[in-house]
Amino acid sequence: MNPRPSKWAGGPAGDRAVCVLAPNPGPMTLDGTNTWVLGDPGAAQAVVVDPGPDDEDHLRRVLDVVRSRGAEVAVALLTHGHADHAGGARRFAELAGCPVRAFDPAYQLGDEGLRDGDVVAAGGLEIRVLATPGHTADSLCFLIPEEGAVLTGDTVLGRGTTVVAYPDGALGPYLGSLRRLRSLAGQVPVRRLLPGHGPVLDHPLAVLDYYLAHRAERLEQVRTAVAAGARTPREVVERVYADVDEVLWPAAELSVRAQLDYLADED
Ligand SMILES: [Zn+2]
Repeated sequence: MNPRPSKWAGGPAGDRAVCVLAPNPGPMTLDGTNTWVLGDPGAAQAVVVDPGPDDEDHLRRVLDVVRSRGAEVAVALLTHGHADHAGGARRFAELAGCPVRAFDPAYQLGDEGLRDGDVVAAGGLEIRVLATPGHTADSLCFLIPEEGAVLTGDTVLGRGTTVVAYPDGALGPYLGSLRRLRSLAGQVPVRRLLPGHGPVLDHPLAVLDYYLAHRAERLEQVRTAVAAGARTPREVVERVYADVDEVLWPAAELSVRAQLDYLADED
């Protein structure tokens, strides 16, 4: 589905986005967190999406990338509050002298939050904000119409699928968010997805269809496991996620709890 190499090191994606990869690889973060620097080439300002973890070297590297483009940071935006995306936001704001905008007021620095339908005009771009709850309640995606690109945070990853981080995350809203992204991708059109982890995705419709199909398949497996006598979330994980590395089972258990919660609402 994705012709790019599976090893991802960051770098440019189109003319108006460049990824600075944070040095925090792991089973949940894949190659590390993608910090995105956005702006028209030659613009005096840039927008930084997800400064990343609280890692001084990484944060300074992001600022170097912005300044090497002859720009200053107008604002940092957060896709959501998880520490691998937002942990360095406060320090980055100090270094760059910029505000931080986020859906969750706990992460906001400065006067402005971030809501569905907001347009962030900076760096020659008009970035459109989409509320996409599910991975977490505060998850956002950002559409760059000029580039036909959507920054997806952890709602869609560059490889594999994401965790519905129950109880903050929830499956019903997550499915709604995937459907919303899919319908958007069919209209704008969207040519690529810039995820919060892993490589750029060049076939948005195919990826979103895969995500929706994967969710439907897992849900059916959970239903079957429960019907066959699985009593606890852990027992469901052992049956349904047998194909997944055990280090991911605690995360899978969160997704299972989200699925059980969703099925309970359905009854
Ligand atoms: Zn996350």
